Amino acid sequence: MASAPAPAPAVVVVFDFDRTIIDWDSDDWVITKLGAADAFRRLRPTMRWNPLMDRMMAELHARGKTPEDIRDCLRSAPLDAHVVSAVKTAAAALGCDLKVVSDANTFFIETVLAHHGVLGCFSEIVTNPATVDADGRLRISPFHDSAAAPHGCSLCPDNMCKGKIIERIQATASDKKQHFIYIGDGKGDYCPSLKLGEGDYVMPKENYPLWNLICNNKQLLKAEVHPWNSGEELEKTLLKLVSKMIAAPAQASQFDYSKCEMSNPAIQHPALRVPH
Ligand SMILES: [Mg+2]
Ligand SMILES: [Zn+2]
Repeated sequence: MASAPAPAPAVVVVFDFDRTIIDWDSDDWVITKLGAADAFRRLRPTMRWNPLMDRMMAELHARGKTPEDIRDCLRSAPLDAHVVSAVKTAAAALGCDLKVVSDANTFFIETVLAHHGVLGCFSEIVTNPATVDADGRLRISPFHDSAAAPHGCSLCPDNMCKGKIIERIQATASDKKQHFIYIGDGKGDYCPSLKLGEGDYVMPKENYPLWNLICNNKQLLKAEVHPWNSGEELEKTLLKLVSKMIAAPAQASQFDYSKCEMSNPAIQHPALRVPH
């Protein structure tokens, strides 16, 4: 009766959310589409991003916008078909362990991923908690409590150090041979990129802050760098890297190749374009 336990996925793919999985910014989309851009501009100079988003949800509530209005707004935004395809192929066909690590919030991310039918592809979404309170107002809390337990990383905003999150994922990895692919665009994606080691990959969005930071300090990174600049390129690059990693002799025994559509990579990939 008992079947052998499934082998642990050897490739962990960590996605940032805003401007990575989605080509837009979810905070900006909601605030602009629901008509609170004026309040945002007024408050931005005086507030940090995470408490500002909680405050913006109060502004929307005061203007009669419900959490369901916010959901509808998020559902109206596009998600690139190539990204959907990349996520489904990496999770289902290639057996990767997919995670989201994001400074957005659970409400926004789960709404978008569920609407596009890919929420179940991710084993974990690590982000700022969001809840609807008794008044029907969406509340957004910091991931790290900076007063009770400051994360102590000078690279990151006080509500979230993605590097600490990557270290936690690395430490709890069931198989120490697990390798990581980290995909992101922003300043907050630099700290986790520095935590990756040899055999890991970083996929920065070209000409965005993460890419610029990597280009300016390239010797600090141990992971190999593969930039992308569209959903189509994200898909090609990610699937090529995963195929290469799962075809590596050291991990060959861990995969059922009959499930792997990409075991004979046919995807052309542009050469590494990070300038020296
Ligand atoms: Mg981002
Ligand atoms: Zn950090």
